[in-house]
Amino acid sequence: MLNVPSQAFPAPGSQQRVASQGRSKVPLKQGRSLMDWIRLTKSGKDLTGLKGRLIEVTEEELKTHNKKDDCWICIRGLVYNVSPYMEYHPGGEDELMRAAGADGTDLFNEVHRWVNYESMLKECLVGRMAVKPAVPKGLSHEVQENFSVRVIENVGKVDIVLQKRENISWKCLGEPLEKHDSFIPKKDTGLSYRRCQLISKEDVTHDTRLFCLMLPPSTHLQVPIGHHVYLKLSVTGAEIVKPYTPVSASLLSGFREPVSSPNKYIYFLIKIYPDGLFTPELDRLQIGDCVSVSSPEGDFKLSKLQEVEDLFLLAAGTGFTPMVNVLNYALTCMPSLRKVKLIFFNKTEDDIIWRCQLEKLAFKDKRFDTEFILSAPSPEWNGKQGHVSPALLSEFLQRSLENSRVFLCICGPTPFTDEGIRLLHDLNFSNDEIHGFTA
Ligand code: FAD
Ligand code: NAP
Repeated sequence: MLNVPSQAFPAPGSQQRVASQGRSKVPLKQGRSLMDWIRLTKSGKDLTGLKGRLIEVTEEELKTHNKKDDCWICIRGLVYNVSPYMEYHPGGEDELMRAAGADGTDLFNEVHRWVNYESMLKECLVGRMAVKPAVPKGLSHEVQENFSVRVIENVGKVDIVLQKRENISWKCLGEPLEKHDSFIPKKDTGLSYRRCQLISKEDVTHDTRLFCLMLPPSTHLQVPIGHHVYLKLSVTGAEIVKPYTPVSASLLSGFREPVSSPNKYIYFLIKIYPDGLFTPELDRLQIGDCVSVSSPEGDFKLSKLQEVEDLFLLAAGTGFTPMVNVLNYALTCMPSLRKVKLIFFNKTEDDIIWRCQLEKLAFKDKRFDTEFILSAPSPEWNGKQGHVSPALLSEFLQRSLENSRVFLCICGPTPFTDEGIRLLHDLNFSNDEIHGFTA
């Protein structure tokens, strides 16, 4: 990787060398304060010019972005487009330009070590440096089994902290395993499976159960919000695979950021179809039996929720499952949120998943509200009745403010989702404001 010698920084005659003690700041133009920068980063403006895409940057590519209006800098393996930040940089533009198109890690460490650049520049993140696989030779040593992983989803960063088993100095890291220490586009990697043990199975409705699976030791599986995995079982000698969406163990436990302790358990709400191929087999598993769980897939982008004020979740039956984590995330991590409404379609009252929890949550958090709509209710039902329709949607999709930023998620049987999306278009919601969860 490129590295600019630190002696070259600050530039001779720059503000920082001129200052007798440490670095001095250059006067910033009006409207270029830290608060102005924070406002700009929260405005939703595309600051990298890549429309939110993260790319892998080669040294050759990095070198070409070396002008003020097109300035990329690598810091600790991550590449930032700092052009939009130039005028806001307290140390001045010239200082930033010292590392233009290069690895500025050393420069950064000298001057800014304490600055929380990851958060300051997170909207400027272009991607990471392409790593040339290094093949260290020699002995490898053992690490402790429990390690910690921190996933910072919006930046695409993963910190893995390993502890040595023996407190000795290592001469080398060891040989990379096949397909390790390399970046492979996700589309080129197959699904990888790990065998997980059934820990518990709890009835949620007459036909839906909460399955808790335990990941094998030393495994980390982080399923992004709104994504699913595949469960694989051998059914009469054939391997059957079906997609399922992990959920939190409960709606009332609150959302937890991907944590530093290993995620040991993964939960699923699964409806058992007595005449289905896969679910009866899954239901027959005994506690302690194993099922294979794949790596995640999906196209839901959390960034779509940025700055959203009104969030509407339209779910039918188990189409509720992707809404669980979206809902938890919305209530915990979206400061812009004013209202989140779940419009939940089911056949009967008995089919409503986690009804009591939903009602408790609505009581606990005034921003959340839920509406149950039944297609085949009992005569005692005095709530709403019917299928997804223009009348029901116009009634329930009321914004909290006239021009509030809105986003809608919809999931259920495919014809339900298709019909719902069609109706939302009729109500003038744009494609950008809708995510349909489909196979
Ligand atoms: P199937 O064999 O697929 O049968 C299901 C029902 O359809 C049965 O009643 C069966 O009689 C009927 N059927 C089957 N074939 C036909 C046919 N040709 N004509 C008419 N009827 C037919 N489900 C969940 O419970 N929880 C989840 O979290 C979840 N997440 C999902 C995520 C994604 C991305 C997708 C696409 C689906 C998800 N599903 C989820 C659904 C799940 O993948 C399975 O489709 C479901 O569990 C049924 O599987 P099965 O093999 O048991 O039933
Ligand atoms: P269900 O109980 O059969 O139906 C739930 C509600 O949807 C019922 O009120 C039903 O009305 C209504 N509905 C069904 N088809 C409809 C249609 N064409 N138009 C309008 N309303 C319709 O649902 P389920 O068995 O739980 O099935 C859930 C579905 O969600 C599955 O197909 C599953 O694959 C899908 N799912 C997808 C994802 C994903 O893509 N990420 C995740 C989870 C689940 P009726 O009484 O008239 O049937």
